[in-house]
Amino acid sequence: MTLLDVQRLFDTDDRCREALVKLRWPSGVECPRCYSKRISWIKANKQFDCSDCEYHFSVTAGTVFNDSHLPLTIWFTAVLLLCEAKKGMSALQLKRTIWGLNRGSYKTAWYLCHRIRAAMKEADRPMLDGTVEMDETYVGGRMKGHGSKAAKAAKEVVIGIRQRGGDVRFFHAEDAKSGTLQKYITENVSADVDVIITDTLQAYKSAVGEIEHKTVNHMAQEYVRYEDGACITTNTVESAFSLLKRGIVGSWHKISAKHLPSYLAEMEFRFNRRNRHDLFIDTLRHMVTANPLTFEELTKDAV
Ligand SMILES: [Zn+2]
Repeated sequence: MTLLDVQRLFDTDDRCREALVKLRWPSGVECPRCYSKRISWIKANKQFDCSDCEYHFSVTAGTVFNDSHLPLTIWFTAVLLLCEAKKGMSALQLKRTIWGLNRGSYKTAWYLCHRIRAAMKEADRPMLDGTVEMDETYVGGRMKGHGSKAAKAAKEVVIGIRQRGGDVRFFHAEDAKSGTLQKYITENVSADVDVIITDTLQAYKSAVGEIEHKTVNHMAQEYVRYEDGACITTNTVESAFSLLKRGIVGSWHKISAKHLPSYLAEMEFRFNRRNRHDLFIDTLRHMVTANPLTFEELTKDAV
């Protein structure tokens, strides 16, 4: 799906709405209150009417589109822009691309991006299997003093776990201590995984427990090693990290710790679907099934 396709196929709100109806209720419209399927369409209000409980509802009611005054055509364009921006797109850039320099508000664009991300967060996360690479990285804070302990303390810890040739998972972690790493392994890696490959950070040793564990010694400039024909490296999880970091530095600039998990969810969602032709439609599908995200909820306890 390209920007031109979206503008051609979804050129009016009615056409966008038709697409959302099919995505939200693939087996026919259902009342969100009583689950009845005896539904009629009220054309004048662009709403459905439930014949059993008399509830009136739109296709976007109770989803991330809830209470939005923006035309659906704008929503669809924004979804495509976020889907196609490999390194992410800042709300400011999105505002400029959609509305231009002097129109639209930053706040509207920012809230719009966050609601799309909220839907991406709802994606399924099946357990990772086979050869799994795991690594930790530090983002945000001051980028000075690379590698030093003090600089790391000012940054946020991100754990990455990736099935080789498959999906990645990103987590905003409290720390990179053994117990924390173990929790992410238990929750995301299949118990009969073949091997977990990490760097030589001591904490991984007890975190992996009984699982087969191989390490690459980055301190000794070792990045790839072959053992009985198996490639021992954490390069594929690191390539996902490098895209994430370029996104943080290049597109979002400074992001607060509070919103970091949302940005991670966006990067993860897009990365795991990078070879899929239905990325745009799949994002919309998540948007009509995810819960609303109010502006109050999004901005409370802002850092
Ligand atoms: Zn009903």
